[in-house]
Amino acid sequence: MAGSFRRARETVGDIDILATATHPQEIVSAFSRMPLVQEVLASGPTKASVIVQDTIQVDLRIVEHRSFGTVLQYFTGSKEHNVKLRQIALSRGYSLSEYSLTRLSDNQDLFFDREEDVYSALGLAYIPPEMREDQGEIEAALQGHLPELLELKDIRGDLHVHSDWSDGRATILEMAQAAAALEYEYIAICDHSPAVGIAGGLSPERLEEKIRAVAAANEQLEGITLLCGAEVDIKSDGRLDYPDSLLSRCDVVVASIHMGGQQSERAITGRLISAIENENVDIIGHPTGRVIGQRDPYDLDLAMVLEAAARTGTALEINSYPARLDLSDVNARAAREAGVKLAINSDAHDASQLLVMKYGINVARRAWLESKDVLNALPLKELLAALKR
Ligand SMILES: [Zn+2]
Ligand SMILES: [Zn+2]
Repeated sequence: MAGSFRRARETVGDIDILATATHPQEIVSAFSRMPLVQEVLASGPTKASVIVQDTIQVDLRIVEHRSFGTVLQYFTGSKEHNVKLRQIALSRGYSLSEYSLTRLSDNQDLFFDREEDVYSALGLAYIPPEMREDQGEIEAALQGHLPELLELKDIRGDLHVHSDWSDGRATILEMAQAAAALEYEYIAICDHSPAVGIAGGLSPERLEEKIRAVAAANEQLEGITLLCGAEVDIKSDGRLDYPDSLLSRCDVVVASIHMGGQQSERAITGRLISAIENENVDIIGHPTGRVIGQRDPYDLDLAMVLEAAARTGTALEINSYPARLDLSDVNARAAREAGVKLAINSDAHDASQLLVMKYGINVARRAWLESKDVLNALPLKELLAALKR
């Protein structure tokens, strides 16, 4: 895989695949005959372009093994990253092309089958694909200051999932067992509050019952700890949908806006800040409310929200649901730079949705996050110490 797909952009225009082969023509024709393929746009001895799922173009290129690293680097992009890389090459007496690095002093072509070797030939540390957007990564590589990016295996638990107590489809125990199978140490069951009536929000009495049910379920579990949480709605006047006395008895509180997202920038920013300043709120869920292709983010003053979150030690969420990815890569990077911790959560409504965590990791890597920036990369003990209560 190459292109924007490999860079893990939140949306991609087409899909680029590179391969090496001893018999390229056989690979190209097998590719063009795959059941997914609806239309073959073009086909030649070493490449083919096809359409899948009505609109998605997939391009396959077969390249020589000896230049695979150089070609992969080239087709991964971004264009802006590659322009800067070619400038670095020239300043060091090389010309970088799609297939090779040419030493200008004697016109010698150097071929690399590994991408890492392209970067090291230019005196650079390997830059992960997610960072290749010309957003300072080449400068950081030159100075030896590239971050050690977060990986999926660094995640110790999920701090925002639903159960069948509200609009989830799995029981608390089923969610815990699925999380244990992912080798998580903890999972926080955060069902909705009453204002989100269509999602089966729990009355205060039901939440009290759930606190007891989670404690009982913990007795039956080994190797994973259930945390009793709430996804409390931030109402249109900025108040929370449960009393503080109840929120203080939860292990983890996620506060989110679900209604009134059309309010003015001042009103929305004020709502978020009053939730952030509540001593029981640990995480702000899907902070900008955007849904990709459907709903723009709220009008909000992100800098003010980040300042309040940093000041109070409140984490902001990277909601991993593929249509949300909220915070976005750009906003999550701004949060990190403002000293705000991020919580990367699935917001799963059934056990299989726990797996969307990987999309949140993509966002985190594009935001240059390291494990120390992420609340749920902490082991349970340290997590409990880091939460506000
Ligand atoms: Zn929500
Ligand atoms: Zn939720």
